[in-house]
Amino acid sequence: CGIVGYVGEKNVIPVLIGGLKKLEYRGYDSAGIAYLDGGKMTIYKEKGKLKELGKMVEGKCAEHTVGIGHTRWATHGEPNQINAHPHTNAAGNLAIVHNGIIENYLQLREWLERKGVSFVSETDTEIIAHLIDYYLEGDLKEAVAQAISKLKGSYALGVVCERFPDEIVAVRKDSPLVVGVGQGENLIASDIPALLEYTRDVYFLNNGEIAVVKKDSVSLYDEMLNPIERELFTVEWDV
Ligand code: GLU
Repeated sequence: CGIVGYVGEKNVIPVLIGGLKKLEYRGYDSAGIAYLDGGKMTIYKEKGKLKELGKMVEGKCAEHTVGIGHTRWATHGEPNQINAHPHTNAAGNLAIVHNGIIENYLQLREWLERKGVSFVSETDTEIIAHLIDYYLEGDLKEAVAQAISKLKGSYALGVVCERFPDEIVAVRKDSPLVVGVGQGENLIASDIPALLEYTRDVYFLNNGEIAVVKKDSVSLYDEMLNPIERELFTVEWDV
């Protein structure tokens, strides 16, 4: 029920867990993070509170990298470690976090299974990771755009991939997602409180819009991947 993502020079692990803590008020049953550590996808996830996840990553450090984090409010599949996000493709080199509900996930799951994809979780979310993988060629945002064109339902998504080690691709439809623009670091989050420690400058994404978030740049696109210009919004209030 919460999403955060970070690209920058800091140790990404406490940034993600700290951001998720700011979203705890929304409720959740499990939590997880994915980040690139020396270019390698690294995932920790656990049922229960952020404290449990915090214990798993104690003493770990991953600087100058990208990462995404999630707190889950289960809609499809019981709250357990396997169903917790992030979810990955078969190779485990692409990871996603998702808020929302994919209404046509069973059809998409069957379609992917006929193509030989095996699933490990019971979630509606996992199909998105395999779909992006299925469409992935030279460009992550293109694969994300193709994958979401097949989805019915609501989603806010953060995607990271070993092949694109300096970016997070984010997109939303009928689930909230904002991009936080910092100095030499940029973030995504499902709600503003998770960003305020780092920046007050944000881009709101409209339905279907895709953001490519790197350390020194944020690029926004519509669903046809035409670039979009957007005014930065400065958050004046405190939480
Ligand atoms: N529908 C997804 C799941 O059950 C995401 C739930 C959420 O928004 O936390 O895993």
